[in-house]
Amino acid sequence: MAPRIADPTRRTTLSGLAAVAAVSSASLPLAGPPARGADPLVLNDASRLNPTRVARHTRLDGPADKTVAALRRLLAEAAAEGRPVVMGGARHSMGAQSLCAGASAVTDAGFRLEPDPAGSRFLVSAGARWRAVVPALDRVGLSVPVMQSNSDFSVGGTLSVNGHGWAVPFGAFAASLRRFRLVLADGTLVSCSRDENAELFRAAIGGYGLLGIVVDVELDAMPNAALRPSLRVMRADELGPALAGAVRDASLRMAYGRLSVMPGDLLGEALLVTFAETTGPVTPLGSGDGTLFGLASRILLRAQSGSDLGKAARWWAETALAPRLAPATVTRNRLLAQPVTSLGSPAAGHTDILHEYFLPPGRLAEFLTCCREALPASGQDLLNVTLRYVAADPVSLLAFAPEPRVAAVMLFDQARTDTAEASMRRLTERLVDGALALGGSFYLPYRLHARRDQVRRAYPGLDAFLALKRRHDPAGRFRNALLDAYLA
Ligand SMILES: Cc1cc2nc3c(=O)[nH]c(=O)nc-3n(C[C@H](O)[C@H](O)[C@H](O)COP(=O)(O)OP(=O)(O)OC[C@H]3O[C@@H](n4cnc5c(N)ncnc54)[C@H](O)[C@@H]3O)c2cc1C
Repeated sequence: MAPRIADPTRRTTLSGLAAVAAVSSASLPLAGPPARGADPLVLNDASRLNPTRVARHTRLDGPADKTVAALRRLLAEAAAEGRPVVMGGARHSMGAQSLCAGASAVTDAGFRLEPDPAGSRFLVSAGARWRAVVPALDRVGLSVPVMQSNSDFSVGGTLSVNGHGWAVPFGAFAASLRRFRLVLADGTLVSCSRDENAELFRAAIGGYGLLGIVVDVELDAMPNAALRPSLRVMRADELGPALAGAVRDASLRMAYGRLSVMPGDLLGEALLVTFAETTGPVTPLGSGDGTLFGLASRILLRAQSGSDLGKAARWWAETALAPRLAPATVTRNRLLAQPVTSLGSPAAGHTDILHEYFLPPGRLAEFLTCCREALPASGQDLLNVTLRYVAADPVSLLAFAPEPRVAAVMLFDQARTDTAEASMRRLTERLVDGALALGGSFYLPYRLHARRDQVRRAYPGLDAFLALKRRHDPAGRFRNALLDAYLA
């Protein structure tokens, strides 16, 4: 591996159609220092609905050997005190998956990055955020194959939810993962890959930190490239097969679909936006960023809250205006470097809530019918639906896409009230039933509103996962709200 690259401080902003591709959320400095006067032991996550008092909060950002030593100390202390341990990265999950009352909480924020000289892989610390990784790789002409649509998340958090984005022809994060090192509950450091500790490798990917703490990760790298956007408008019912068909084009590097959320045409019209590799200039990040485009995109997204007119205006901007304003080419890294904050925050008393469902491409249209029936009665304010192609994941034990899937990501503006919370729970249960009946599944880093039986049906590997947890963590040291809700 080559010498380490320092954490870059350059900021990137939205550019061209990239602005249209991102989704938004609360813009709190979630894992940063607490606000003045706030209890530093009360942590929260991106939902802002989970204030949780922990017994200790340790922030790690040192070199690998110090991180491992600190984790061993912390685990020994927690064992002596009989406390659970809970790990966090950026704490952008929404159901307290990174929280546990009375626990010893750890936030990893360490940045270490070593690309190999051949440019085919890189080693990165689990605490690194993609917003630092992407620019650092950009400087050496490389790019991340699989990450989320925003860059605020940690590498360890991404591995532990098995994240995915809109890069094609990839599926979940597992696909780009070669190896990682895990500190187990008894302090043992193990290296996990497809050949070494393969059982732990398969289970810790998407294992929500319940088997051990990821210290660092070796990932595939790929060349950065100039991409040419194109856009097609169609009926939503055609989008599943169209997206699955489009990704067969070998020149395609990124693709997403988008659905109208206008009440008069709810999930009716659709956009398919694709980015094919082209011979244009591969400009470095930081040059010619589309700040104005980003600002307009944020205003349009937020103008939709509680407003039919706002929803119509955004759809017009996406289908009619954005294609005219989009640059001829954009780099892959520019598309990946989108911060969550650039799309703004919900109004006071509200929060952004995400749902995500994975459907066989040919069944998406039936799922959309289910959504059209369920959404209006729920009273929830749907701001955005993005669709992505997710290739089959044969690696992870808790795979959400064991076969190729189209993912429907929904962004809601939700009031922070008990009534809204109860209606969101009912809506989630109904949409999960809809997805399961069509052979699909749903994503676990969001609100824990699905029923236990629904989780069991969507994740048939759960029993094997729990058996492994009992073997490697017999005292149940690693604990979070996901475990308590579904697995305890
Ligand atoms: C606005 C927004 C957009 C999103 N877009 C996408 C998207 O495009 N695609 C997608 O797949 N997901 C998306 N997500 C979900 C996101 O990928 C997850 O919430 C992910 O967990 C975020 O990473 P994090 O660093 O915030 O993890 P955290 O929320 O901090 O942690 C997530 C889980 O990982 C565990 N964990 C964290 N670090 C470690 C570690 N080092 N070792 C062991 N366990 C660890 C935690 O205990 C927890 O269970 C989005 C979320 C938001 C809020």
